[in-house]
Amino acid sequence: MSQLSERLAALSPSETLAMSQKSNELKAQGIDVINLSVGEPDFNTPGFIKEAAKKAIDDNFSFYSPVPGYLSLRKAIVAKLKKENGLDYTPEQIVCSNGAKQSVCNVLLSIIDAGDEVIVPAPYWVSYVEMVKLAEGTNVVVEAGIEQDFKITPAQLEAAITPKTKALILCSPSNPTGSVYSKDELKGLADVLAKYSNIIIIADEIYEHINYIGKHESIAQFDSIRDRVVIVNGVSKAYAMTGWRLGWIAAPQWIASACNKLQGQYTSGPSSIAQKAAEAACLGPQDCIATMRKAFERRRDLMVKLCSEIPGFKVNQPQGAFYLFPDCSYYIGKTIDGQTINDSADFAMFLLEKAHVAAVGGKAFGANDCIRFSYAAADEQLIKAMQRIKAVLEGV
Ligand code: PMP
Ligand code: GLU
Repeated sequence: MSQLSERLAALSPSETLAMSQKSNELKAQGIDVINLSVGEPDFNTPGFIKEAAKKAIDDNFSFYSPVPGYLSLRKAIVAKLKKENGLDYTPEQIVCSNGAKQSVCNVLLSIIDAGDEVIVPAPYWVSYVEMVKLAEGTNVVVEAGIEQDFKITPAQLEAAITPKTKALILCSPSNPTGSVYSKDELKGLADVLAKYSNIIIIADEIYEHINYIGKHESIAQFDSIRDRVVIVNGVSKAYAMTGWRLGWIAAPQWIASACNKLQGQYTSGPSSIAQKAAEAACLGPQDCIATMRKAFERRRDLMVKLCSEIPGFKVNQPQGAFYLFPDCSYYIGKTIDGQTINDSADFAMFLLEKAHVAAVGGKAFGANDCIRFSYAAADEQLIKAMQRIKAVLEGV
C-alpha cells in the first residue's frame, strides 16, 4: 500500500523538467542530444547583475530577509510596474518568492478551497493544472486550437464561468504557444470578467519582455477588474536568471498579505543574494533585454521556416516567448519504424530516441495534437535539430 498522501499520488511530475532530465542522461551517455525541451534562455546572466550578487555576498546580505523580500527590491518592482506598465502599486502589494512558479502556487493555495473552479485556457503551462490539484481545486480547461492562434475568446470564457468559478489563469505571452493577447483581446476578456466580481485573474506575465510585437499589454490595465488581478512576473526569462529563483506577485492587498502569511510558514523570504541581483536587474540598464529578444526573434523566424518545411507539421506565428508549438496530429496514430505513436508524448519520445532531439509532447500542456520546441538554443543547433527530425520523418 502506498504511504503517499492522496494529494501527492494525484500529482503528475513536470513533463518539461522530466524531458530535460532524460535528455541530460542521454548526453551523459555520450549521445549528441539537442535539448529543445526545457524553456530557459541559453544566455548567461548579464555581468552587472552578477556583480550585484557578488557585492551582496561581500556586504553580508546573509541573514533572513523579510518574508515578502527586501523593501528595496519591492520598491524597485513598484517602480518597474509604474514605468513599464503604467500601474500603481505599493511595496506592501508585492511578494517575492522562489521563482514565478512559487508565486503562482502561493496565490492558488491562498484563494482556492476544495471544489472551487479555476479556468485554465489550453494550451497551458504544465504546472498550472497540477498546482490547482494541489490546492484541491477543480480545473476547468477551455480549449483554443491553432485555428484561433491558441487564444480563447470572450464567449468561450463566459461559457466556462459557473457560480463556483474562483479564478482564471491567463498567460500572455504564452508558454507553450508563444501567442500574445492584443489589448483589444484582453479588453474583450476583461469585459466578461467585469460582470463576475468573485473571479480572481492570475496574469502570468513572465514572458513580458520576450514580445515581438512591441509594447506588453497587461490585463491589469482595465479599471473594471483591476482590484482582482494578480500579476505574476520575475527575472528568470527576461534576464536569463532561471537558476537564481526569484519571482514575484503584484496583487490586491488581501492576496499579498495571504501569500506573505503562507510563505512565512513554508519557505520564508527567497535567497538574499538572488534578491539583490534581481534589484540590480530591475534598476540597471535594460539593453540586455533587447539584445536577447532580438536573438529570440531571429530564431523564431528560423524555426517557423524550418518547421513549416517538415511535412505534416502545422505552424502558427508566435508573437512572443521562445516556443514553437506545431500541430503534429498527422503523425499520431501512425507506426513509424515499427514504433506506434499513440499520442504526442510518444511522438516526443520517438524524436528523442531516433532524431536525438528533445521536445515536449503537447499532451502535458493540454493539447495532444501538438509538440513544443523551445528555441532558446543556438541557431546551428536549431538547424541541425530540424534537419534530423525531417530525416526521421521522411516518407511517413
Ligand atoms: N510561468 C510560466 C508560463 C513559465 O513558463 C515559467 C517557467 N518555468 C514560470 C512561470 C516559472 O518561472 P520561474 O519559476 O523560473 O520564475
Ligand atoms: N518554464 C519552463 C518550461 O516550461 C521551465 C521548466 C518548468 O519550470 O516547467 O520549460
